[in-house]
Amino acid sequence: MNLNTVTALRHPTSPAEIAEWRNGFAWLAGGTWLFSEPQPETDTLIDLGHLGWPALEASPAGLDISATCRIAELYRFEAPREWVAAPLMRACCNALLASFKIWNAATVGGNLCMSLPAGPMISLTAALEGICTLWPRNAPPREVPVVDFVTGNHRNVLQPGELLRSIHLSATALARRSAFRHCSLTKLGRSAALLIGTSGAAGDLLLTITASTDRPVQLRFPHLPSATELGDAIETQIPPERWFDDVHGSAAYKRHVTRYFSEQIRAELAERGSV
Ligand SMILES: Cc1cc2nc3c(=O)[nH]c(=O)nc-3n(C[C@H](O)[C@H](O)[C@H](O)COP(=O)(O)OP(=O)(O)OC[C@H]3O[C@@H](n4cnc5c(N)ncnc54)[C@H](O)[C@@H]3O)c2cc1C
Repeated sequence: MNLNTVTALRHPTSPAEIAEWRNGFAWLAGGTWLFSEPQPETDTLIDLGHLGWPALEASPAGLDISATCRIAELYRFEAPREWVAAPLMRACCNALLASFKIWNAATVGGNLCMSLPAGPMISLTAALEGICTLWPRNAPPREVPVVDFVTGNHRNVLQPGELLRSIHLSATALARRSAFRHCSLTKLGRSAALLIGTSGAAGDLLLTITASTDRPVQLRFPHLPSATELGDAIETQIPPERWFDDVHGSAAYKRHVTRYFSEQIRAELAERGSV
């Protein structure tokens, strides 16, 4: 849609060109959300597209995903064979309710910065223990785990003008076994629950719960828990107000499918761990 409050569009080649930050400025990534509804508070868009950040950089240490990496670019990434968790990337790209146009424009960073419960790039990078690099306006870069980056529905730790630069996924996290479960009330609808479990050589379990809660919830177990231990952890560690009630599913429904999928993930990882 036309944003008729916007009167200026800037294309910096370095964030330093934006010397002063003021109310009314907004970083523009893929623009799929910015152009989807009126932005009465915004008069100037600052396009990240000319910063020239490489989309994906793989190394023995892991994968650096630029904030400006498109969902479609991540989908096409060919991971080294030892990164057995890599199929999660395509599974999470497919969990974005999106047309062809959105897939090719929306960015990984934009998805994190939107901080919606159903943000599948949040699910992916939280489950793989990603670390965000943030560029504050007048301070050195800082690092924040993805799981702490999102603080609630459409809320995160970014300060005014602060940029999400990239997300690092370690090779260790990418080498963990994984199991994925996702559902939505309607075909191609926004996620009602998206759960990912990962397990390492020690037989531990890291369960990441997203979409059904207002922000990512992670449950860690030093060993694969029993079904009862897992169910108890969900009940005791997720307070009732964290279940996210919206048109994409009631809180009761989301709590139910979370418990159901958690047990499926536990059983799947237990079975695969025993072969
Ligand atoms: C039909 C439709 C379906 C959608 N479905 C989903 C869905 O299922 N799940 C979901 O999570 N979202 C969904 N969205 C919302 C949105 O399209 C996605 O979240 C998308 O990934 C946003 O990325 P973008 O690059 O287009 O961000 P933009 O629209 O460009 O920006 C989004 C916000 O993030 C800020 N921002 C972007 N990049 C940075 C950065 N690097 N540093 C700091 N701030 C930044 C912008 O200033 C803006 O406030 C949908 C949107 C539409 C129109």
